[in-house]
Amino acid sequence: MPELPEVETIRRQLAPRLTGRRVSAAWAFPHPKFDEALLTIGATVNGVGRRGKYLIAPLDDGRELIMHLGMTGAMGFVDEPLDGRDLAPADPFVRARFRFDDDATLELHDVRRFGRVAVVEAGHYDRLPTLAALGPEPLSDDFTPEHLWRALARSRRAVKTQLLSQRVVAGVGNIYADEALWRAQVSPMSHRVGLERATVLRNTVRDVLVESLDHGGTRLRNYRTVEGDTGAHQLHLDCYGRAGLPCTRCGTELRHRDLDGRGTTWCPSCQAR
Ligand SMILES: [Zn+2]
Repeated sequence: MPELPEVETIRRQLAPRLTGRRVSAAWAFPHPKFDEALLTIGATVNGVGRRGKYLIAPLDDGRELIMHLGMTGAMGFVDEPLDGRDLAPADPFVRARFRFDDDATLELHDVRRFGRVAVVEAGHYDRLPTLAALGPEPLSDDFTPEHLWRALARSRRAVKTQLLSQRVVAGVGNIYADEALWRAQVSPMSHRVGLERATVLRNTVRDVLVESLDHGGTRLRNYRTVEGDTGAHQLHLDCYGRAGLPCTRCGTELRHRDLDGRGTTWCPSCQAR
């Protein structure tokens, strides 16, 4: 699943190509999760922003185009020439297409359909409850050790489950949760995290995201940047995807289990509870 570094990489590539462009035509897969793409026709994109894993493009008429890539979503520009009238794709996994006044066509490809396209009045996210309840951006000044400590203390759920909820901090998914907890030597199953360990965890969350961002995101099965690159961060993961291999810190075999429905890898020795 694309997480903050992957979505931010895509945002940085989309922004210069979409800003100031008017949507001249659109096509949408006929499903409520995608058909609002059609509502953008005639509007001009004023920029491309991001909150957590959501791309948010303000439009010139006071609305926002919101896109979420779900589990398998990817965005790219269509290579073949289109006549601008018939945007219907031959590929059955294309969910939305936007044609712009410079003749470029952007498409959202999403095999498993966990993605989403919505058009809302700016800042009105009641139809998108996860977005409405997002915690602070992890790289912002609002994501303080005290915030993380207090937010985690509000719930009795496992610390990893809370990191994934998007309410404690925005944009962290399975890969970076496993990595940050491993680096902080905090068990993903912990139910209580003191201020000292919350401070370490806050720093490792930031570190893993910044390092991945520097590499253009982690290379995953379905991840592609807008330019078609796959990201290079895979080589730098210490924990995620390494179950059964020795911990790079202590040599203990990393373990894997299901935690609240999400595959979780951790070191039973240096991430003991
Ligand atoms: Zn270890």
